[in-house]
Amino acid sequence: MKKQISVTVCASLVATVFVAGAADVPEKNERQPEQTSIDGFSNTPMQPDGKWHIHDPNRTQPPVAEPKYDGKRVPPPNGSKMLFDGSNLDQFVNKGWKLEDGSMIAAKGGQKSNEKFGDIHLHFEWLVPVGLKGYGQKQGNSGVFLMERYEIQVLNCWANRTYPDGMTGALYGQQPPLANACRKPGEWQSYDLHFKAPVFEDGKLVTPARITVYLNNVLIQDDVAFNGATAWKRRPTYKPHEPTGRFSLQHHGSPVRYRNIWVAPLKLKLGE
Ligand code: MG
Repeated sequence: MKKQISVTVCASLVATVFVAGAADVPEKNERQPEQTSIDGFSNTPMQPDGKWHIHDPNRTQPPVAEPKYDGKRVPPPNGSKMLFDGSNLDQFVNKGWKLEDGSMIAAKGGQKSNEKFGDIHLHFEWLVPVGLKGYGQKQGNSGVFLMERYEIQVLNCWANRTYPDGMTGALYGQQPPLANACRKPGEWQSYDLHFKAPVFEDGKLVTPARITVYLNNVLIQDDVAFNGATAWKRRPTYKPHEPTGRFSLQHHGSPVRYRNIWVAPLKLKLGE
């Protein structure tokens, strides 16, 4: 339930705001009136396109797209490998994450896979709980780091705006998603990541890491190259590393849930 109230912001300005209780979820996939500003930075280096700063709050917000996912567990296809079915953390390093209702809950220390991967199709489902306080990056910041370096952001961007290169489905700090296809807090969301590992030869980058991302079955990154390992407030760079690596799940203070994590060979034709 929402109740509409008026508050006096200063002597001459009266603003109308909506006050939502902890159990409420805003109804529209857009910034809510009570979020009065968008977080971000304007004193950071420029992106390679020269148009926007890294984490620029003024960067154009992607359009809203209708999610095409109903919140059910997506069964792993033939040839895939289940890493987390909700019953145990055998395939993961941090045993301190709590298991509940078939999911694992982000907690201290982050999480990482036991196994190392190169090119990979990674599927998982995630949920940001209802009622988190604050806006922008405070709405359930987490993320998946391929090879522990290349982050696709996890965040609630339903009725929450942040700098576009830090929103749900962004190559964090680098590339905003094509669209905002978020479901509501309290609802399960699906990610399918088709990741191609970078190639190094003689200590030099030959081919950058590339990724295609589906959020809730909506294409939001279309074979995009990473500019380097994920960085905060600075330009990313590449440093040579092994051809395979673990993926990690970020804990940034929010109890984001993860479930149904499986990997499959990367198909040559992405998105099939
Ligand atoms: Mg993150």
